[in-house]
Amino acid sequence: MSEFEVSEKGYYGRFGGAYVPEMLFPNVEELRENYLEIIAQPDFIEEFDSLLKDYVGRPTPLYFAKRLSSHFQTNIYLKREDLCHTGAHKVNNTVGQILLAKKLGKKKIIAETGAGQHGVATATVCALMGMDCTIFMGEVDIKRQAPNVQRMRMLGAKVTPAISGSKTLKDATNEAIRYWINNPSDTHYIIGSAIGPHPYPDLVTRFQSVISKEIKWQLKEKTGSENPDYVLACIGGGSNAAGTFYHFLDNKNVKIIGAEAAGKGINSGFSAATLKLGTMGVIHSCKTLLMQTADGQITEPHSISAGLDYPGIGPLHAHLYESGRGTFFSITDDEAMQAGLMLSRVEGIIPAIETAHAIAALENLKAKSLETVVVSLSGRGDKDLATYQSYFNL
Ligand SMILES: *Cc1c(COP(=O)(O)O)cnc(C)c1O
Repeated sequence: MSEFEVSEKGYYGRFGGAYVPEMLFPNVEELRENYLEIIAQPDFIEEFDSLLKDYVGRPTPLYFAKRLSSHFQTNIYLKREDLCHTGAHKVNNTVGQILLAKKLGKKKIIAETGAGQHGVATATVCALMGMDCTIFMGEVDIKRQAPNVQRMRMLGAKVTPAISGSKTLKDATNEAIRYWINNPSDTHYIIGSAIGPHPYPDLVTRFQSVISKEIKWQLKEKTGSENPDYVLACIGGGSNAAGTFYHFLDNKNVKIIGAEAAGKGINSGFSAATLKLGTMGVIHSCKTLLMQTADGQITEPHSISAGLDYPGIGPLHAHLYESGRGTFFSITDDEAMQAGLMLSRVEGIIPAIETAHAIAALENLKAKSLETVVVSLSGRGDKDLATYQSYFNL
């Protein structure tokens, strides 16, 4: 078995596991016992593939970015997850999880959301399947992310404010977990990134692995080789990155590159550079690197992009970092914003600010002129226009 596959007990190296409250154990155990068997069933695969094709719009293009390539003096291909229905890769996972929930006989779906992107992707598939949907969201985030709250409500979801603590993502997560404990039999909890208790990181990675599966045949068609020299993705919790890396993990000739958010700078006190600043701890029921004080209080993260503004990181990426299999750059808010503007002007593609972190990392990469780089274009920038506009005074 690959050293980058999750172990029987749910670990990648030292990271992962399921540190759940005892009352949640039956829910997580039900999922763990059934997920591999269900997602391998022929009718599951058929329905998943057909929805990815006709509803999500897959395969997404692998686009040779000519002007961007000449700017960086290398060969850059953009994997266009921004062209997925709802505008980002997150829907690959929510489609998979709602089909799994139906197989488990669940009637209701819950999810937590920070920026609202995962909430929208979850509300979307609940509408598609006619399932009852409750999204937990911090009261502060509900105010900050009004357009996404409106989208969720338009789609028929109930948006429930979390009013404890800092009233942001971690408080919304606590609310979702509390609800799940009280409604174990009829409810499935859709986690939106490659985080949380085992089996979630593996489950989400498998659903997102369609990204690298497509890259392989698309790149072969375009270059004659299915393996690039580099694969590059931004990392919040790590789902688009996990999907982009997955089918290359065991091929050491393919260099794996991640871009995390340095916010105002790694040492500024306003950052989300989890790998550089994090230490071992437990967050969202998972043992991983996280930003915390010496006595174990989780540090409030900062990033200009809401999707990377997370104090932890998925256990697979913590392992890629620690084992040296992956190289990770910390990209500041300013670097990301400049890269977002550059991609817009050079290719006519306005990226999400999360994605712009991956574009900015091309600068650090210094790939050679004959080399090939595949970048995960995780999402489109429509949601970020107000931030771009005020930053650049457009
Ligand atoms: C949510 C989001 C991310 C970060 O999440 P991952 O799980 O790390 O992929 C990145 N890009 C976009 C466009 C997002 O919406």
